[in-house]
Amino acid sequence: MTRDRSDKLLDIAKRRGFFWQASAIHGAIAGFYDYAHLGAALKRKWENEWRNYFLSLDDNYYEIAVSQIMPEEVFRASGHLESFTDPIIQCKQCKTIHRADHVISDKLDGHFEGISLEKMNELIKKHKLVCDKCGGDLAEVGILNMMFPLEIGTGKLRRTGYLSPETAQGAYINFKYEFEALRRKLPLGLAIIGKAFRNEISPRNLLIRMREFTQAELQIFFDPDTITEHPDFESVKDYKLRMFPAKNREANRIDDMTCQEVVDRLGIPRFYAYHLAVIQKFYLEHLGLPREKFRYKELHGDEKAFYNKYHWDIELYLPSVGGFTEVAGCHYRTDHDLGGHQKVSGQSMEVNMEGKKFVPHVQELSFGVDRNILALFELALEQEKERVVMRFPRKVSPFDAGLFPLVNKDGLPERTRNIQAALKKAGFQVFYDASGSIGRRYRRIDEVGIACGITVDHQTLEDDTVTLRDRDSMKQIRVKVEELPKVMDDFLNGKGLEHLGVVIK
Ligand code: AMP
Repeated sequence: MTRDRSDKLLDIAKRRGFFWQASAIHGAIAGFYDYAHLGAALKRKWENEWRNYFLSLDDNYYEIAVSQIMPEEVFRASGHLESFTDPIIQCKQCKTIHRADHVISDKLDGHFEGISLEKMNELIKKHKLVCDKCGGDLAEVGILNMMFPLEIGTGKLRRTGYLSPETAQGAYINFKYEFEALRRKLPLGLAIIGKAFRNEISPRNLLIRMREFTQAELQIFFDPDTITEHPDFESVKDYKLRMFPAKNREANRIDDMTCQEVVDRLGIPRFYAYHLAVIQKFYLEHLGLPREKFRYKELHGDEKAFYNKYHWDIELYLPSVGGFTEVAGCHYRTDHDLGGHQKVSGQSMEVNMEGKKFVPHVQELSFGVDRNILALFELALEQEKERVVMRFPRKVSPFDAGLFPLVNKDGLPERTRNIQAALKKAGFQVFYDASGSIGRRYRRIDEVGIACGITVDHQTLEDDTVTLRDRDSMKQIRVKVEELPKVMDDFLNGKGLEHLGVVIK
């Protein structure tokens, strides 16, 4: 049903240089993708926006960089060893192993992630579901741990480890050291942008379900007695959130609710509601994605991890995946994580704040970077009457500007190279192109979503001005070369062309 759209997206991504399957010349393995030159630029920019936005929420939030291979004990403490499993089912005939809940959700309406093995067996029998590869009968549902195991070192010193299935553990196992190093203040935020590895049974939907992917997560450690407050709650209390509570599922209705209403009507603590607001603002105000493509989905009790007291997913509307799709999550994880590491390591995770001793609780803001990149890619793509254009938010466009000499003579290429050097020095990513008609060159940058085009023409040699063309409106203004860095900075931060110069008719 959505296969066509997803194939089309992959085709465009490949042709233009955004992403493609990894190791393809040797036969790709499902669930691994490489970012090509434009995709890598888009990803780096998204990550930088994420980093700058979320780390600036509090002076006591920092980024750390951690090992991606961790010893088994970490995952005994986190619970992954025991319960990071997926339900699987094997075809008796062709022996293909499927994810059991996907076998069901592919054929029946409803949400089946997290339902019991018994219930799955019952549904598969009742609806006579069969292998979608060969039509064979299916065996009983079993479980498989999704972590990739590793043997580290040799001989006596050999230890079992795992590729980390989420970045979060890196923050938990470093909490105590950071708390001391940062002079014992709460809340303390530790952010990690890093890889996660999961042996998914059925990777699918391009960058949505991968076996190696990138997460951007902020773990906020705080005193649970302060959960009913947030010092900045006043600034968001009237801000309207797009809420899709579990009780609205049947009616498929999204409610616009202010943060204050979320607190009063849904019983959500202010500390958590504040974070819902800042995440939504990141998507809608900072990146400028359309409001109607965003929602918070509340998970049912049996869908969320038992330790998540509050769990709302951030979903974006992606037709290639069949509709609203999880791209991030906002989780109140209580003291589950530090408590687990304390128990298994035997090291105290308690803090002592003015005589009060407690294990801090964790508010987690967890983003799947690749899912967000796919979302940007899909939401940006537009087929207009006379052109194909990728309307990426300007801030994360793979290049800030295309730079063109109008003709390849009269000193224009030299002057353009000059300007290119100055813009690069000022920190902009610019893409020089001198081949083909100017119209063709504009189309080329529109197709890969470069935010604007700057053209150097004969007038530049006379008055030192260039034209700046906005990718989205295709309108142009004339800008003094010396003012370009400032104008581009304003433009990339969302200022309309009409506020930056006189629009040329
Ligand atoms: P989780 O730890 O499962 O809550 O995942 C946190 C975030 O990582 C999710 O909101 C997704 O955006 C992303 N994510 C989870 N699993 C995958 C996967 N297999 N491929 C790509 N992204 C994923």
